[in-house]
Amino acid sequence: MNECIFCKIAAGQAAAKIVYRDELATVFWDIHPVAPLHLLLVPNRHLISLNEATAEDAALLGHLVVLAAQMAAQHGVAHSGYRLLTNTGKHGGQSVFHLHWHLLAGRQMRSLG
Ligand code: AMP
Repeated sequence: MNECIFCKIAAGQAAAKIVYRDELATVFWDIHPVAPLHLLLVPNRHLISLNEATAEDAALLGHLVVLAAQMAAQHGVAHSGYRLLTNTGKHGGQSVFHLHWHLLAGRQMRSLG
């Protein structure tokens, strides 16, 4: 049985504040938001992280990034700006092992430096 929480959310088998869903991707609110807008964008198909993506996933990855920009526009933060990031593996700080992008907005983000 698949125990992946993001697979379950994408399949409608676990609760989440769903913002958008299509045949490839699901967008929902992070359960512990760190910004006024904190959405997670996930492929419906299980990929552990960006490490598992291949050239065959290029359209899927592009879809998720374009979707992030659309979500930013729909939530009124395209002009003020936002941060889109994916954590990969231990040093990347990944804690849920189903590929996802964080869309963060609504406050000033700190410099990465
Ligand atoms: P990461 O640390 O990059 O793997 O991000 C995982 C994110 O998933 C964290 O920001 C968590 O707060 C979030 N998260 C974990 N479980 C859930 C859930 N059931 N619903 C929504 N967000 C979740």
